[in-house]
Amino acid sequence: MGVAVRVLISVDMEGIAGVAVGADVAPGTPEYERNRQLMTAEASAAVRGACAFAPDVESVVADAHGPFCNLLAADLDPRATLVRGRPRPHGMVTGIETVRAAIFIGYHGRAGTPTSVLSHTIHPCIADVRCNGRSLGEIGLNAALGAFHGVPTVLVSGDDTVAAEARDLIPGVATVEVKRALGARATESLHPAEACRRIETAVPAALAARSGAPAPLLAGPVTVEVDLLQEAMAEPPLLVPGMERRGPRTVRYAAPDYPAAFDVVRLIAVLSGPAG
Ligand SMILES: [Zn+2]
Repeated sequence: MGVAVRVLISVDMEGIAGVAVGADVAPGTPEYERNRQLMTAEASAAVRGACAFAPDVESVVADAHGPFCNLLAADLDPRATLVRGRPRPHGMVTGIETVRAAIFIGYHGRAGTPTSVLSHTIHPCIADVRCNGRSLGEIGLNAALGAFHGVPTVLVSGDDTVAAEARDLIPGVATVEVKRALGARATESLHPAEACRRIETAVPAALAARSGAPAPLLAGPVTVEVDLLQEAMAEPPLLVPGMERRGPRTVRYAAPDYPAAFDVVRLIAVLSGPAG
């Protein structure tokens, strides 16, 4: 088998089977406490799948929802390491530059996706993110960072709109649809155990199908445009030297390369979020 393969499993919560409404993913609610068990179970299913691909695989599980402190460490498959807490480098995909492949579990559609469960992009203050004119949600933003480092995103799970968004962005990506969106706050979902079974089955196939480094989604300098939800939210980002206002709710930044663009988008969310 050779040198151990290292795989990043980034786990968000909105796209976990059984999750449908805001309370399901909001720390402090009884629903959240139950759903973090489901989130941990889907993460463990992906780890089992990675180990089925290669017994000596190193699975790095990155907690990627809200405060980044959701996964239950003691319940996670013991063969994985857990990345928890924030702020941290590269946000949802910490360590992506060190792995052979990335897997996104429990992801959600980008802001503006119609009929998509709990869709948004990073923070509710953001209405749209465009990099060189292309609208990207969290799937695209994170996959583009991987692609910049030559790391393919091989599997994405979530609702049916997540699968469609991933396939539109990433040629050949495997998808697992654990639920069908009936609205932004409504879904018909697989049973959590069936969702885990499908993830565990799909992961080794997706890792095996990986061939070579992906073409970068965004090469060279990247112009970032972010539409905020309200006019006042477009003001704090202007504290960043070089940030321009392009409209009542739109700011623009010319980044020298994609990793800088990625960080600027995250910074705008930090600066504009509290204003909302
Ligand atoms: Zn989330």
